[in-house]
Amino acid sequence: MDRTFSIIKPDATKRNITGAINNIIEKNNLSIVAQKRIKLSKYKAEGFYSAHKEKPFFNDLIEYMTSGAVIVQVLEGMNAVKKYREIMGATNPENADDGTIRKKYALNIQENSVHGSDSDENAKIEIDFFFDESEIINN
Ligand code: ATP
Ligand code: MG
Repeated sequence: MDRTFSIIKPDATKRNITGAINNIIEKNNLSIVAQKRIKLSKYKAEGFYSAHKEKPFFNDLIEYMTSGAVIVQVLEGMNAVKKYREIMGATNPENADDGTIRKKYALNIQENSVHGSDSDENAKIEIDFFFDESEIINN
C-alpha cells in the first residue's frame, strides 16, 4: 500500500469542516492511518515549506499556517500521492475541478484547506517530519 502526507489547514479547522474533508478522503478509498491535531510553530512551518523560501508568498504562508490548529495525517491507499492530489484539486480553487476538496471548500489560493505530498519521495520525508512509525496504525 502507498502512503501520502496530508494537512487539513487552519482555514478548514476554523470552519469546523475537518470531518467533511475526512469524509471525502475516506469515500475515495484512502484510509486515515495516523492523524493528530497540532499547532505548527513558526520554526516547524518554515521547515516544512522550506522549498518555497524564496517565493513572494512565503511569509504570508507561514503566518497563515501558524494562525490556528492543523490536522496532520498519513493516508494509505493505492497510488495514494496521485490519488490525493486528484481529490484535493488545483492549488487555486478557481481552477479546481468539480467534486474536489478545494473546489468545495477552499477560500482562495492561499487558504486552500488541504496539503498533499507531491511525490512518493516527499511523502516519506513529510511523514517522517511529523510522525514516528509507531504512531501509524494500519489495523
Ligand atoms: P500544497 O503544497 O499545500 O499541497 P500545492 O502543492 O497545490 O499545495 P504549492 O505550490 O506547493 O501548492 O504551494 C504551497 C502552498 O502555498 C499552497 O497550497 C498555498 O497555500 C500557498 N500558495 C501557493 N501559491 C500561492 C500564491 N500564488 N499566493 C499565495 N499563496 C500561495
Ligand atoms: Mg506543494
